[in-house]
Amino acid sequence: MSKIAVVPGSFDPITNGHLDIIMRGASIFDEVFVVVLNNSSKNPLFSVEERMKLIKDVTSHLPNVKVDTFSGLLMDYAKNVGASAIIRGLRAVSDFEYEMQITSMNRVLNDEIETFFIMTKNQYSFLSSSIVKEVAKYGGKIEELVPPQVEAALKLKYNND
Ligand code: ADP
Repeated sequence: MSKIAVVPGSFDPITNGHLDIIMRGASIFDEVFVVVLNNSSKNPLFSVEERMKLIKDVTSHLPNVKVDTFSGLLMDYAKNVGASAIIRGLRAVSDFEYEMQITSMNRVLNDEIETFFIMTKNQYSFLSSSIVKEVAKYGGKIEELVPPQVEAALKLKYNND
């Protein structure tokens, strides 16, 4: 039976930190669904469609990665696609408390789907979509933080060409 994992997130936009987690997940699981959670409580810069397109572009070299979107309970989505695991990235101790709370709740909802944490690479430990947007907004250098397609999309959004 093929092992399926879900990598959920906002991906507003996808960074090299996200991509690293997705690539490492894809090397362990047979199939990985990267899912843009359509969470109305956040105010995103990129639409869900734009975020999905960017993820598709930067993961096109990974044949076992699929990109999708979902609004609702992640565990319902994971069950529907037959996933046995959720993959999350961990950057710092500050991520831990939040992840622990979500993971515990998800286990109450469905204890057959395990959450796996992948520790970020050191060079991405400070990296978040918010920080990238902040730097891009003021025309700062982001080429080492995001794939080229994302850099171009951010420049377009902020008229920084
Ligand atoms: P969310 O709103 O669910 O936190 P994000 O898009 O911010 O969505 O993050 C999605 C996933 O990617 C989370 O598991 C997060 O911890 C992980 N992640 C984000 N940035 C990095 C990074 N620099 N290194 C490793 N994992 C990361």
